[in-house]
Amino acid sequence: MKRYYIWTIGCQMNESESEEYEAAAQSFGYVKTSDPFEADLVIINTCMVRQSAEDKAVNKLQNMKPIKQKNKDARIILTGCMASLGDKTELKKKFPYVDEFMAPGEIPEWLKKNEKRTLSSPICNFIPIQQGCDNFCSYCIVPYTRGREKSFAPDYIERKARELVGLGAKEITLLGQNVDSYGRDLDTDITDVLKRLNDIEGLLRIRFLTNHPKDMNRKVMEAVASLPKVCENINLPIQSGSNDILKAMNRHYTVEYYLELVDMMREIIPNVSLVTDMIVGFPGETEEQFMETIDVIKKVRFDAIHIAAYSERTGTYASKHLKDDIPEEEKDRRLHMVEEVQGKILAEINQKFVGNKTEVLFEGVKNGKWQGRNRNDKLVFTESEHDLSGRIMNVKIDRATAWSLHGTV
Ligand code: SF4
Repeated sequence: MKRYYIWTIGCQMNESESEEYEAAAQSFGYVKTSDPFEADLVIINTCMVRQSAEDKAVNKLQNMKPIKQKNKDARIILTGCMASLGDKTELKKKFPYVDEFMAPGEIPEWLKKNEKRTLSSPICNFIPIQQGCDNFCSYCIVPYTRGREKSFAPDYIERKARELVGLGAKEITLLGQNVDSYGRDLDTDITDVLKRLNDIEGLLRIRFLTNHPKDMNRKVMEAVASLPKVCENINLPIQSGSNDILKAMNRHYTVEYYLELVDMMREIIPNVSLVTDMIVGFPGETEEQFMETIDVIKKVRFDAIHIAAYSERTGTYASKHLKDDIPEEEKDRRLHMVEEVQGKILAEINQKFVGNKTEVLFEGVKNGKWQGRNRNDKLVFTESEHDLSGRIMNVKIDRATAWSLHGTV
């Protein structure tokens, strides 16, 4: 039996790409192992957004050295931000036991050339629709490591989606750093891709992320509202509730503009669930500016917040020009305050599901319970003796917490 080991660090994009690599490895007959020393295929998916992530990746790679002594046929692949840097001479010198240095997204193609397909894909899949970013947010390294924005052709995305559905996929999430600017280089936009996928027989649900407030628009919202398979679930990062901080982040929108977008979205897409990303403790963030972020959280009442404390990333504008002057304990305090405020809001929001039915796509069993997500991306658990895998069922919610819903089919 062939085994694969995968190690991932970094953003959602990296995680989703790793899920894609896992699906590809499984479709070629590999079985997952948590021990890299018994693997035939080792994938290290790196991130350079934060210095700490890069340090961990280097450490991990160093630990992989003895693999070849144990199994000389094992193949080690380095991918992600670190492998995307132009000149790989230094990397090759430092890690001579690594067989392949691949840009994000190249692994499935590589497997296709080197392996024979045997198994099928999971229920929920991801398809990257663009690479790189043109936005240069002052804290972010992505435009430097992944280059300028490049959209993949709609034909290619549709073909890939049909292929995955043929292998058993029921839900597809389209991924990009800024999906609202997808297609500018091809004279098209994300709504074209959404329509194409909506027409694929056998595909039940479509999601897409991440959106950028400066590019999100009415046309995208109307596509979500009118295409039945596209879920009412939008990820729209605000990052801060202070206009001064947004300016320092080079985000190109104001809080007022963001709030207008939210109003428009809630009018066009009834029952939309709204997810956001936030950074606290950005250089120079005063207590007053942080409290503006708390005010926005209370005003918008998000369905989920991906919250991070600012951490300096070498090579970014912020690292060169803005002093990381908020003490770590203070960043932690702000982070926990956001979590606390959001936890209370979420418990109230989720309570509204109790007593009502919600449509759930089940993915598998966890701790003896079937687990799936509704169209709003809420995690739902139920008990059943039947095989619910890949099925959409109506679940009556009996109990809700801030993080999940529990009910009966
Ligand atoms: S939009 Fe900003 S934060 Fe997102 S990848 Fe581009 S530069 Fe980074």
